[in-house]
Amino acid sequence: MTTTTDAAPNTRSFEADVSRLLHLMVHSVYSDKDVFLRELVSNAADACEKLRYEAIASPALLGDDPQPRITVTLDPDQRRLTIEDNGIGMSAAEMAEALGTIARSGTRAFMEQIAAGEKAEGSQLIGQFGVGFYSAFIVADRVDVTSRRAGGDEAALWSSDGLGTYTLGAVEASEVPVRGTRVVLHLKEDAADYSQRFSVEAKIKAQSGHVPVPIFLREKPD
Ligand code: ADP
Ligand code: MG
Repeated sequence: MTTTTDAAPNTRSFEADVSRLLHLMVHSVYSDKDVFLRELVSNAADACEKLRYEAIASPALLGDDPQPRITVTLDPDQRRLTIEDNGIGMSAAEMAEALGTIARSGTRAFMEQIAAGEKAEGSQLIGQFGVGFYSAFIVADRVDVTSRRAGGDEAALWSSDGLGTYTLGAVEASEVPVRGTRVVLHLKEDAADYSQRFSVEAKIKAQSGHVPVPIFLREKPD
């Protein structure tokens, strides 16, 4: 039987390694929380780059929105930070694979190193081992990812508190215009600064200046 996404979201478990990784990450790299921002912006830029590459053979994928863009939205009232891109996007099946498993070899080595207690090093290792997305849970107690694959007509919502399970379900395609990914971080109480311009603007400039996609910073969703 093939797996399809039901209209009602269903709850799934992370791979055991993901749960372990999340636990280690949240408890090991707290001294360098900023790492999550670099990782999520870098994923957004990678997604734009993947789209650019696929669009060489399939220009229609760009639709009427050909310019790559990353939008960071601050919502201090709701203590939320949103990172959105109009890149390649993910289907529901791709989200289950990318955001619920650890595909990369070397993850065990990563976990051993991070568990050995090198806190400063931990933040370097995260990018290196390809587990950057999960660093969102260093600052968020819930992460919602809405995505729509370029060329696809279905959107899906992935949501998790990072404690072992996630839900995945279909959403109205209009939730994600045309294509791309929106990552909403419901920030922990002690990470509220990441919904404030004074904090986020400087960090993005410092960490992501080299990113080849324009980054727009705005306050509150429309
Ligand atoms: P890496 O970027 O090194 O592959 P991550 O943990 O940062 O590792 O991300 C895991 C995977 O999740 C990515 O490889 C990609 O397939 C998917 N992903 C994450 N963020 C996005 C995004 N904004 N758009 C599309 N795919 C994404
Ligand atoms: Mg990444």
